[in-house]
Amino acid sequence: MPASNPLANEGAEFRAEIDRKLLTEVAAEPVTANTKELYKALSLLVREQLAQRWVKTQVEDRKAKARRIYYMSMEFLVGRALNNALSALDLRDTADAAFSAVGGPALTDVLECEPDAALGNGGLGRLAACFLDSMATLELPSWGYGMRYEYGMFAQSIINGAQVEHPDSWLVDGTPWEFPRPGTVFPVRFGGSAEHCGEWAEWNAAEAVEARAYDYVIPGHGTERVSTLRLWKAGAPAQIDLNAFNSGDYARAAEFKNRFENISWVLYPNDSTPAGRELRLRQEYFFVSASLQDILFHHLEEHGHLNNLADQIAIHLNDTHPAISVAELMRLLCDDYGMLWSQAWSQCKRIFSYTNHTLMPEALETWAVGLMQYLLPRHMRIIYRINQEFLNEVSQRFPGDIDLIRRISLIDDADGNPDNKRVRMAHLSIVGSHRINGVSQLHSDLMVQTIFADFARLYPDRFHNKTNGVTPRRWVAQANPNLATLLDRRLGKEWRLDLDRLKGLRAAADDPEFRNEFAAAKHVNKLRLADYVKRETGIILNPHCLFDVQVKRIHEYKRQLLNVLHVITRYNALLHGVDEDATPRCVIFAGKAASSYYMAKQIIHLIHDVATTINGDPRVKDRLKVVFIPNYGVSLAEMIIPAANLSEQISTAGTEASGTGNMKFALNGALTIGTEDGANIEIRDNVGAENIFIFGNSTPQVAALRTSGYDPRAIYQNDPALNETLNRIDGGFFSPNERKRYHDLFNALVNYGDHYMLLADYADYIATQRRVDALYATPDEWQRRAILNVAGMGAFSADRTIREYAIDTWGMEQLLKPI
Ligand SMILES: *Cc1c(COP(=O)(O)O)cnc(C)c1O
Repeated sequence: MPASNPLANEGAEFRAEIDRKLLTEVAAEPVTANTKELYKALSLLVREQLAQRWVKTQVEDRKAKARRIYYMSMEFLVGRALNNALSALDLRDTADAAFSAVGGPALTDVLECEPDAALGNGGLGRLAACFLDSMATLELPSWGYGMRYEYGMFAQSIINGAQVEHPDSWLVDGTPWEFPRPGTVFPVRFGGSAEHCGEWAEWNAAEAVEARAYDYVIPGHGTERVSTLRLWKAGAPAQIDLNAFNSGDYARAAEFKNRFENISWVLYPNDSTPAGRELRLRQEYFFVSASLQDILFHHLEEHGHLNNLADQIAIHLNDTHPAISVAELMRLLCDDYGMLWSQAWSQCKRIFSYTNHTLMPEALETWAVGLMQYLLPRHMRIIYRINQEFLNEVSQRFPGDIDLIRRISLIDDADGNPDNKRVRMAHLSIVGSHRINGVSQLHSDLMVQTIFADFARLYPDRFHNKTNGVTPRRWVAQANPNLATLLDRRLGKEWRLDLDRLKGLRAAADDPEFRNEFAAAKHVNKLRLADYVKRETGIILNPHCLFDVQVKRIHEYKRQLLNVLHVITRYNALLHGVDEDATPRCVIFAGKAASSYYMAKQIIHLIHDVATTINGDPRVKDRLKVVFIPNYGVSLAEMIIPAANLSEQISTAGTEASGTGNMKFALNGALTIGTEDGANIEIRDNVGAENIFIFGNSTPQVAALRTSGYDPRAIYQNDPALNETLNRIDGGFFSPNERKRYHDLFNALVNYGDHYMLLADYADYIATQRRVDALYATPDEWQRRAILNVAGMGAFSADRTIREYAIDTWGMEQLLKPI
């Protein structure tokens, strides 16, 4: 390379620094270093620069006595860090040059050997990660607080078509991205009893666990500021096992250690059943207590007193998992710092805000009073007192409305049996917060009309909508460099920080040359995915086919099964010789099922059986392929989503709170086929109804069907295509060695009421898929609409969402810089 090329020079210098790190920190010879060693060296180099920015940010905030936002979440699905760090430091091109100049592994291979930090289940955890990125980028003094799970979300493999779970030991090789904070340790106590003395109490706990802090740098983009994600690891108190250890009873010493340390071992699926429930409550309290102690410690260090706490901090509860915060902050302020109850309570309400993520009553978190009493006796008393004062207020405003009191109480004792009493964590969150929000307009509207209607009547000013968003840095710039380059050329680079600039793309939709370039970028992404699918599954995808993609957690309400019904219907039509000219498709699935969720696992199995049948049928040729890509996670999403032509967002109307997958797809130029659910509605409003395929029953129509008596069996009997499709599933056509395998799935739809109303939407779904086929057959028009989708997605940047939170929820408007 000519020495006059500045990038080549920078690349060579950067390479020299990587080699130095290889020698001094990794102890590896530069010329023979393998990808893992290169990954470590490069990460350490990048981390050095981030650490300096980090210290500077902390010093600035302390000096300014800045108001802080603390985002509390059980889950942070951050994915890989290195590529994001390189782009935040504007070093991606330099790093590319550093690797391409010499032989050996390519930069992309090095980036791909980083394991995902999969500290979350799905959308809720990924939202928290996108928000951290936006808070840092908007320069808000912000911290995330959560758990440092030794094993994150399980790794999924598929054996004979069925899901098998493995522990995801993402930390086995260590991670260059965490900074242990050995000085930051807080005790977290459990059990025992509480001695009351007037306003205050002395809690004589039965045991104490140590919470140890591990920090992760969250770099902002287009700014030198960085934020902190502080995760807690549980540790046994140092002295506890000394006696056993000294007497040589190592087994007992190890048992002690595990009893304490298992709190931060695994991430529970949020939809799991009783096993491990107690451990889950311990986890929630553990990270909440450590975080609040930490927050108060820092506040006291900066201000010397707690009277201005609510002026200086905002704490956000991501769903009810951290809801025990309300009681814990009251305990800390009153019992540990001697504040009067009334003063503590008025601060509390100004400090907390809460996001609800689901309307499904069965998913609303409650804890048995008995368990709470046993693990957290002092908190149970605090909750009773909050409840008493709250219910007094309610009965003064609505005298005699006993039914209202029962519905709204923090304690559910529906059947009157004291053993069945439960604490309603959502109610605790609402009563203890000054702002409550849903995550799309539809969800927020339904929230105040249904599950929280009584609260909305009491406190109308507390309820707001904050439609979710995604970070364009990860979901376009990093995941789709081909599209990013095109956008840069057409719009300049500013869209990364000001996504509304995508509007400028509207004119480009009618520019044939741009359309070709746009299509070419998509094609390269499809080749990249096809290559991966071939390596992982052996299935060969033709990149000229329409890539029809549904990737998300496997759940009945998300209706992957409706998608399968369409696939089988298509297959049947091909065999019958109708639809000979239907657009060739590759239907792509990915997603994990909670390990205890039988129906979801059956759906995965069915997808595999259908795929085996169809892909193995020579009559089908290239006209239909079905593939399930194992082990869905952030990094897979970054590869799959940019390759999609069609985005499947087909949940039963009224069930998906928002969705963020829907946003990532449209932003990457896929057209959506979807129901009037969650943020799909707002996507339609922004991209234009003519550029999206909306089908099926709306939320009010779903409700009306339910009340008028929904009869799925009649639909099954009267629709010949559906009848044939369901009979093939039920009759064992796809599972010839176990003909009854899918009888339960069939029954759930036909005989047990089809709770998520797949059959009610089936006919419209099939008809809408035909319109998709027809449009794809006119490539110019398809590309035009795909471009208009990208152009309309500016509103779905997480930066927009975080600005709204900063203004309406966290009282941080003054800290926002103008766009
Ligand atoms: C965006 C994302 C989700 C959420 O997808 P939905 O389609 O909104 O359910 C889940 N998992 C991962 C890894 C994601 O990136």
